[in-house]
Amino acid sequence: MAFVTRFAPSPTGPLHLGHAYSAILAHDIARAQGGQFLLRMEDTDLDRCRPEYEAQITRDLTWLGLTWDGPVHRQSDHLAAYNARLDPLSDLLYPCSCTRSDIRAALSAPQEGILHNVYPGTCRPRGMQSRLPGDALRLNLAAALQRLDPASLRFTETGPKHAGSHLIDPEQALRDIGDVVLSRKGEDIVAYFLASALDDADQAITHVIRGEDLFAFTPIQVILQHLLALPTPTYHHHRLIRDNHGKRLAKRDDARALSKYRAEGATPGDIRQMVGL
Ligand SMILES: [Zn+2]
Repeated sequence: MAFVTRFAPSPTGPLHLGHAYSAILAHDIARAQGGQFLLRMEDTDLDRCRPEYEAQITRDLTWLGLTWDGPVHRQSDHLAAYNARLDPLSDLLYPCSCTRSDIRAALSAPQEGILHNVYPGTCRPRGMQSRLPGDALRLNLAAALQRLDPASLRFTETGPKHAGSHLIDPEQALRDIGDVVLSRKGEDIVAYFLASALDDADQAITHVIRGEDLFAFTPIQVILQHLLALPTPTYHHHRLIRDNHGKRLAKRDDARALSKYRAEGATPGDIRQMVGL
């Protein structure tokens, strides 16, 4: 059976040890399986993503000795196409003009398993005909779940912490995830959840290998996969590399940027050792 996985950083800063762990792990598993390792830039947040960070990411990965198959897939090249994929779901969507910060938060991958506040549904009664330029589109999750067979909403996890088969609990999804933002069409913006689900299908990803902080958001991706008739890959959520205080490394921690270790004379082997690989 084919094995295809990906490393999907957002070019909003330099790679640090946590990214190195994720990339090396996915790369090594793919190569051990005789499979493919793809590189995807999750650069839908056009304000924060920079070409120079993308260049630095590919430089860092090359330095680590990683090779990827095919060209780099850049999400910003496909924004209009992602939006078009929402058309069949239009009866499950509604326009929302609530705060920009809430909508912006939907563009980036969530961190530490915390989604910004679950949306209270203020704009849910609005019909699509009331849509104004700049409005976001939210998924009416309750209506979406009613359309799906609950027994089909499952995924297989192979990571250390949650290994096994997971059935999605619709009540919990409504409580924990709610009506997520999927896009803001006028500005050709799409949410992380949507772009990632579409790309995994378009790139024929069989195994998603990523940090444990994203485990809690697998249910919304599986729900989107079913709504859009996409396959569900196998998921593998790995441990996070933390700093000495137990905090997840963030891109702002430039002190732990790979390029800094490299400048200080570290070898790729040292990096592998530092992250326990
Ligand atoms: Zn709203």
